[in-house]
Amino acid sequence: MNLNNALRSVHVVLTLLIVSHVGNAWASYRDFDIPPSNATVDLRVFNVANMTLLNDTHAFILPTLPGHQSVEYPMYSFLLEHKTSGTRMMFDLGIRQDPENTPPSASFYITEGIAKFEPYKDVTQLLQNGGIDLASINAVIWSHAHFDHVGDMSKFPNSTNLIIGPATDTSVYPGNPNATLQASDFAGHDIVKVDFASSKLIFGGLKAVDHFGDGSLYLVDTPGHVAGHLTALARVTPTSFVVLGGDAFHHAGQARPRPLFQKNFPCPAHVLEETKTSISTEFFWSPGSRIGSFDILSRAQALLSISNLPDSVYSDPIKASVSLDKITSFDADPDFFIVAAHDISIRSAIPYFPEYINDWKASGVKERSVWAFVEASNPAFVFDSFNTN
Ligand SMILES: [Zn+2]
Repeated sequence: MNLNNALRSVHVVLTLLIVSHVGNAWASYRDFDIPPSNATVDLRVFNVANMTLLNDTHAFILPTLPGHQSVEYPMYSFLLEHKTSGTRMMFDLGIRQDPENTPPSASFYITEGIAKFEPYKDVTQLLQNGGIDLASINAVIWSHAHFDHVGDMSKFPNSTNLIIGPATDTSVYPGNPNATLQASDFAGHDIVKVDFASSKLIFGGLKAVDHFGDGSLYLVDTPGHVAGHLTALARVTPTSFVVLGGDAFHHAGQARPRPLFQKNFPCPAHVLEETKTSISTEFFWSPGSRIGSFDILSRAQALLSISNLPDSVYSDPIKASVSLDKITSFDADPDFFIVAAHDISIRSAIPYFPEYINDWKASGVKERSVWAFVEASNPAFVFDSFNTN
């Protein structure tokens, strides 16, 4: 082989390596350096309540288009069961039955008429109605300490531990007049702070802790919405995960579209066609767009951003955007399905307790739901402006 041929062979091999690497980008959970394991958790979802926030969309997402100033959110709460250890845990509780009995920084939303709720039962009632004894819940994990996630810990027996992010502000009202928590949120429960500092695990740039030590549940450090905000990767089959996204984002449009996501989950033809005219080109643009004709295929960044206005619900919008960039790399991978706590776009697509969400991948839930947020018939659709006064 002469030098030219040798160089050509090297070039061919390198090209093949590069092509195969790019082709496999985020194609498997192994691309995130997550170790293989056959250990899983059983996962079930509750929607505790539907909350409408009046004239408050801008605190969550930008841009806020005329006619979309109010926003409706479900509140997902999760029951995790680790059969091999006989452990049951909750991830987030949603809102308590009597939200007026929260500290002023939270009850303000109710007394001022900003937050409205359809009739609902709190998750402790939903669990008990479903035959789950509260004494069988070994721990509650809070993604963070906001009133629509912490539920009412006083309903759980003292044997239920409380697991929180290490940077969580645990100050309580009235000692701290601005606190979102009160003494009854902690009373009698052992508090366990997740130890990210001494864990060596990093997945997709995010620090993680292997909660059971067998790869079935990773708690993940995702700061930005508030300090100490955490999310979780629940391994629901040996090769597939549900990402419990908490408030890493509030709207699917903050996560999508992104380039790798477009590649692995192509936008269905009927959605492509509909969004040409349904998405306002006054507010959204991409290289392939024409005035009055939006082109979602050439859109390389998410439609919505995290609010950075003074009353944003994201205490550190820049940190939150970085956490969002990291967690959305899981969104582009067919082995992961993200369920953010308030993602209304998937409300009618996901199975609820007593059903399990473990077989989301085999059942095609992700393919059916990830583009729903840009369909005009979906309650998440906020991309046209219908009130321009
Ligand atoms: Zn929150």
